[in-house]
Order: sequence, then structure tokens, then C-alpha cells
Amino acid sequence: MIVGLFVSQGLTSPIRKLNTAARRMGDGDLSARAHVRSEDEIGELANQFNEMADQMQRSFSELAAERDALRQFIADASHELRTPITALKNFVELMQGPAARDQEAQAEFLNESQTQLDRLSWITANLLDLSRLDAHLVQLDIEPHSAEDVLSSAVALFRTRAQDRGVDLTIDPPEAGLTIPCDSCRMEMALSNLIDNAVKYTPLGGAVHVGAVATPAGVEVWVQDTGAGIAPEDLPHVFERFYRGRQTTAAQGGALPDGSGLGLAIVQSVVQAHNGRIEVESTPGVGSRFTIWLPGL
Ligand code: ADP
Repeated sequence: MIVGLFVSQGLTSPIRKLNTAARRMGDGDLSARAHVRSEDEIGELANQFNEMADQMQRSFSELAAERDALRQFIADASHELRTPITALKNFVELMQGPAARDQEAQAEFLNESQTQLDRLSWITANLLDLSRLDAHLVQLDIEPHSAEDVLSSAVALFRTRAQDRGVDLTIDPPEAGLTIPCDSCRMEMALSNLIDNAVKYTPLGGAVHVGAVATPAGVEVWVQDTGAGIAPEDLPHVFERFYRGRQTTAAQGGALPDGSGLGLAIVQSVVQAHNGRIEVESTPGVGSRFTIWLPGL
């Protein structure tokens, strides 16, 4: 009887452990595991149970992280949208009240309202673009395009602005026949955002260089400037949505007149949609270099 008792104990103990772990898990404790050491079928079952529990725990924490990121995104987006909406509301109230008969003030408020409306439509259009890209709803038409054409189209949009600001904007001529495997519209948009920033953050007398070169795995494209540079504490965050460098916000008195921290997030999404990657190197007071690596076709 004693021997029988030991044998049955040896058989039922692993089952009980498995049972307890399953019950704890059913009650929501995702860290529950069945510590069964036997080498038989029950041991095998416990191993499978533990693996499933590991996987479930991982999936739940990924979902929780995504939920937190989404919450943060919604909070940031509402904050960004609230600023122009509040400004518009104030202008309308002023035009209906104190400035009702002041033509000059009315003209000024209408002008300001237009700026805020432009800003609102810019933010919403870009947010839509970003979420479509991130949800893989945008079908990219990736084909080899002449590097010279892609770079010149992006640069052409900023020639006048660069001239007005006294910034020397040039293309480092790519080798003849070099092609960039990309969706040309999207890639031009990404490059435009980089060039826009480079011109924006480079003071009078500075230079911005744009170029491309073949690599063993594909193509490398860069936008390099001799501008203000990015502080080391900002550097890891510049690709985050709505992130604006401390110097940028301080220099503009927090008014955020041009852009809103979405530019680089869009660039990164476009590059990732091409299965590429983007990196930034920057030294404050010396300049920044954004480099995109795209895989070959
Ligand atoms: P925005 O330019 O609208 O602020 P971005 O997403 O394009 O937003 O850039 C995020 C931040 O990265 C900027 O606020 C700025 O601080 C920094 N940054 C981006 N590009 C440059 C650059 N070429 N030189 C210096 N700082 C830059």
C-alpha cells in the first residue's frame, strides 16, 4: 500500500501542478507556470503549456505597449490640434466682440485664421498619411528611378527658399546611371522633408548637400547640412511623432510656426515601407547628416 501510495503520488503530483498553473492562468495570472520535471507525457504537456504561457505573456505585453503608444499618440495629436482650434476660436470671438468695427484688426485676424487653418489641414493630412503608411494601407510602386531625377525633383522645391535664406543647396552628382529603387513620389516627399529641415535649421552662409551612392546592398542617400545640429539628448527622439528639439521650440518661443514634429516621423515611415533604414549623425554647432539605406531590387 505504501509503495502504491508513492507511485500514485508521483503520477498525480505533476497533474496537480499543471492543474494549479492552468487555474492561476485562467484567473488572469499570466506568470503562472507548471514546474513539472518528469520526462513522460505529462512533462511534455507541461512544457507545451509553459511555452504557450510564455508566448501569451509576450503577446500581451506587446499589445499593452502598442496600446500605450496609441494613447500617447492620441494625446499628442489632440494637443497639437487643440492649439490652432483654440486660436481660431479666439479670433472669431475677437472679431464678433472688441474688434467688430476695427477693419485693420479684422484683416489681421482673418490672416492669422488662414495661417491656423493651413496648419490644421497640414497636420491632419500628414497624420492621415502616417497612419496609412504604418498600417501598410499605402501600396508602394517601387521601381528603379534615376538618382539624378529623384534628387533634383526634391531639391527643386527648395531652391528659392535656400537662396532667400543665403544657404548653398547643392546636389553631389551621383555616378552616371545610378538608380534608386523606390516609389518616386513617396521618396521625393521623404527627401523634401529632410531638405526642408536642413534649409530651415541652417543659418545664413551655410550649406546643404544632397547625394546618393551605390552600396553592395542597394543605395545610400544623404542630406547633410552645416546647420545648428541636434543636441545629444534630442537625437534619440527626433524620429518620434510630434517630437521637436528643445532648441527649436525655445528659438521659436514655443509657437511652432512651421512644422510640428511630424516631418521626420513621416520620413522614417516612408523609409521603413521601402524596407530601408534611416540614421542621423549630428554635432551641435557643426551640422547634421541624415542617411537613408535602401535595399536593391
Ligand atoms: P519639425 O521640423 O516640424 O520640428 P521634424 O520631425 O521634421 O519636425 O524634426 C524634429 C526635430 O528634429 C526638429 O524640431 C529639430 O529640433 C530637429 N531637426 C530635424 N532636422 C534637423 C536638422 N537638419 N538640423 C537641426 N535639427 C534638426
